[in-house]
Amino acid sequence: MKPAPFAYEAPTTVSEAVDCLASHGEEAKVLAGGQSLVPVLALRLARYEALVDLNRVGELDYVRREGSTMVIGAMTRQATIERDPTLRAAIPVLREATRLIGHPQIRNRGTLGGSVAHGDPAAEYPAVALATDATITVIGPAGPRIIEAADLYDGPMSTTLAEDEILTAVAFPVWCPGSGFAVREMARREGDFATVGVIAGVTLADDRISRAALALFGVGATPMRFRQLEGELLGADFLAVDPTDFGETLAQRLDPPNDVHASTAYRTRVAARLVAEALDAALDTARQETTS
Ligand SMILES: Cc1cc2nc3c(=O)[nH]c(=O)nc-3n(C[C@H](O)[C@H](O)[C@H](O)COP(=O)(O)OP(=O)(O)OC[C@H]3O[C@@H](n4cnc5c(N)ncnc54)[C@H](O)[C@@H]3O)c2cc1C
Repeated sequence: MKPAPFAYEAPTTVSEAVDCLASHGEEAKVLAGGQSLVPVLALRLARYEALVDLNRVGELDYVRREGSTMVIGAMTRQATIERDPTLRAAIPVLREATRLIGHPQIRNRGTLGGSVAHGDPAAEYPAVALATDATITVIGPAGPRIIEAADLYDGPMSTTLAEDEILTAVAFPVWCPGSGFAVREMARREGDFATVGVIAGVTLADDRISRAALALFGVGATPMRFRQLEGELLGADFLAVDPTDFGETLAQRLDPPNDVHASTAYRTRVAARLVAEALDAALDTARQETTS
């Protein structure tokens, strides 16, 4: 099948893009890497009067350090994130997660902003943003605003962005030395979206956990944080933490979907195991960091 006809706009600046989007109202959609939007159009699951293509907006393609955050422009390709040496050192979890997205061809076109704005509940980047306490900058006719990752998703593939807003950047805080992250996921085939995925992050100070983050994806309508359980880790000696026990406790709080990919019971069992593995690996990395 082919997409239904649409008008095509190719702005070269963010302000032109905002004007284009506003002029078409809710009948327009932003086009980034096209790796999610184009299949939806080609299968005629959706149709829009106009596409506003961001691929010529060079000012949205950058990676830079700003104080204690790494700020990444929305049109930065996933392949760039995978290879960028500064990002690899500052936010290693981003690279680890990026390598689990689809295949190299998809990552060559797919963008950070496209994935975060699309908000697939089984996607890696929304969960990384949530786990690292990232902030998202968006701009619309009323000007720019910043959204906490925790406030971005309000349902499956649904965000708190307005129809006339464009996501321009994601700022990932650089966690302090002594921190470790790990990503674990189960997918039916390599490159598929996760059936269940987990991101765990911890910071150790004097062998005790001073910061913790746990985000799961593929287990609900949006990526999920488990702040109460994270709180129970704070202050604990890392040697006293039993990741298997922790995984079982967390899994009891899940009610994952029952669909063609996996049953609720299966996802729950897998989640318990992956939480244990991710927490164990994050603690291990943090411990190595503190001793290096
Ligand atoms: C075979 C295959 C396997 C895949 N596997 C995975 C996987 O394992 N994990 C994963 O996370 N993803 C996967 N993807 C999706 C891929 O990561 C996409 O690149 C991503 O979901 C969307 O990014 P994009 O740049 O292609 O956005 P597009 O497809 O261009 O846009 C997606 C949506 O976001 C909106 N949008 C895009 N950019 C902006 C912006 N700056 N501001 C506001 N709205 C915007 C668009 O309007 C559209 O609604 C897969 C895709 C394919 C085809």
